[in-house]
Amino acid sequence: MKRLQSNNSIYAFAPSMELALTVSAPSTVIFETIDAFGGQIRTLEDKLENLDFSRVNPATGPVFVDGAQPGDTLAIHIEKIELPKQGAIVTGEGMGVLGDEVEGHATKILPIRDGYVYFDHLKLPAFPMIGVIGVATEDQVFPTGSAHRHGGNMDTKEIAEGTTLYLPIFQPGGLLAMGDVHAVMGDGEVCVSGCEVSSRITVAIDVIKGHQMGWPVVEREDGLYIVVSLPTIEAALHEATREAVIFLQDRRGMTFAQAAMLASLAVDIRISQLVDPYKTVKAFIPREIFEGELF
Ligand code: CA
Repeated sequence: MKRLQSNNSIYAFAPSMELALTVSAPSTVIFETIDAFGGQIRTLEDKLENLDFSRVNPATGPVFVDGAQPGDTLAIHIEKIELPKQGAIVTGEGMGVLGDEVEGHATKILPIRDGYVYFDHLKLPAFPMIGVIGVATEDQVFPTGSAHRHGGNMDTKEIAEGTTLYLPIFQPGGLLAMGDVHAVMGDGEVCVSGCEVSSRITVAIDVIKGHQMGWPVVEREDGLYIVVSLPTIEAALHEATREAVIFLQDRRGMTFAQAAMLASLAVDIRISQLVDPYKTVKAFIPREIFEGELF
């Protein structure tokens, strides 16, 4: 099994990136990742205002997948996300949904034990997820803190163990990178961060030739999430809804209006995160209402 260490890190998803590893498809790969703070917050003495922001949001990679070409899809099955013994969360003035009401900065170290994240005496069940995961972009450069069609900082909690993420491939080899694991996070990520942890992620990578969705898609047993990230939450809500309706229209041979009605009855439009430069919305399509396989 191939393993990629966290010193192979990128800070932007671009059309061209210097590759760290080449694999064939299918392959299982381990990505060792550093937390979104670049490992700079380990104790309460490590202050947010002293962070070296050039080290924030590292993603381990990129991995060149032999045979992956523009127009194909990269299928990333997430087998395992390992957690360390603690994570960290921060907030502060100007950060998150309520940044205009928060005074100063606050940091908290969150112990992780036996499948729980401890917030003082509260025990929250750990639910490890990947915040940043993406491929080389079509033409723009997106810092790893942002997200768009290539993936990136989607902060979508369904990108978790046992699920498969599909990313559209724009450049030869795909160039996959990931990082920013959270031990737990609520939809919205309202204070600006989750339980930020370093991790070791095991994924099975494969290529689906000749098929592509417009946006990242997460597949679970119960259905699909189409994950849309755009500069405003309104734009992301509109596009995610539209993508779900067009998907149903194509799959079921319906008119647009019929598909919109079906979506209104059975599709859930949910928020992934409200705090990154591009906001992320997910449209959940339950498996019962589409027919056949995704690809
Ligand atoms: Ca994030």
